[in-house]
Amino acid sequence: MGTYLITGIGRGIGQELTRILLSRGDRVIGTVRDPGQVPAEWEAFVKNGRLELLKLDVRDEASIADAASRVNEPVDVLINNAGIIGPDRQSTLNMDFEGFLDTLRVNTLGPLRVVQAFLPQLRRSPQAKIVTISSRMGSLSYAKSDRIAYRASKAAVNKVMQGLATDLAVDGIAAIAVHPGWVQTDMGGSGADISVQQSAAGLVKLVDRLTLKETGGFFDWQGDAIPF
Ligand code: NDP
Repeated sequence: MGTYLITGIGRGIGQELTRILLSRGDRVIGTVRDPGQVPAEWEAFVKNGRLELLKLDVRDEASIADAASRVNEPVDVLINNAGIIGPDRQSTLNMDFEGFLDTLRVNTLGPLRVVQAFLPQLRRSPQAKIVTISSRMGSLSYAKSDRIAYRASKAAVNKVMQGLATDLAVDGIAAIAVHPGWVQTDMGGSGADISVQQSAAGLVKLVDRLTLKETGGFFDWQGDAIPF
């Protein structure tokens, strides 16, 4: 049984991760932008203390600091899940630059800001883990150029995670980036390869067996190492 901090639990992969963890007895501290967004059946978990909701926007450093100040317990696993696909215009030849910056703010700076804010709580866990949901679309080994703002933001967050793995090894904290698969969510669309249940179940298994040996790596939802 552990304490998991997950960003963006109101829908999609974050919501399903939370559902699995609550059902097996873990404690979840979940962040949302709109506290009214979580499933009604979770009210019981809020009441019995197994689920705590924090309002947090990863764009906003003050909201992250405020959320972190409300957590006075060790955090065993931090899952940076919140993310956006980015602006409509994001090809190299027709770029919405403000939208590109916003995508970096959410997908790249957001996870790092959240890690920094919650480091004291992570350091209080004997074997803390940090997992950032990135995307294979950020892999430098693919030459594809659609959605370049999104791809660049995920490539950059992979580098951030590699850096964190190096810098936090001394604390015994493992840090990895993961690809959740192409998943049927608002972001992935209904034609995606796998269900949100398949993705989240695979990710939970991967997180369970993550040790310092894998730190700094990039893995897919089935637990296989994939190229950066
Ligand atoms: P959804 O669009 O279904 O959900 C996105 C989640 O991120 C929501 O909870 C949303 O909250 C939250 N979020 C967005 N912006 C912010 C913000 N500024 N601050 C706080 N929370 C925010 O996406 P998925 O569940 O599909 O994606 C989850 C993660 O998986 C993302 O990082 C995504 O890039 C990644 N991923 C998804 C793939 C897929 O096929 N679905 C493939 C590869 C990677 P709100 O409801 O308030 O908007």
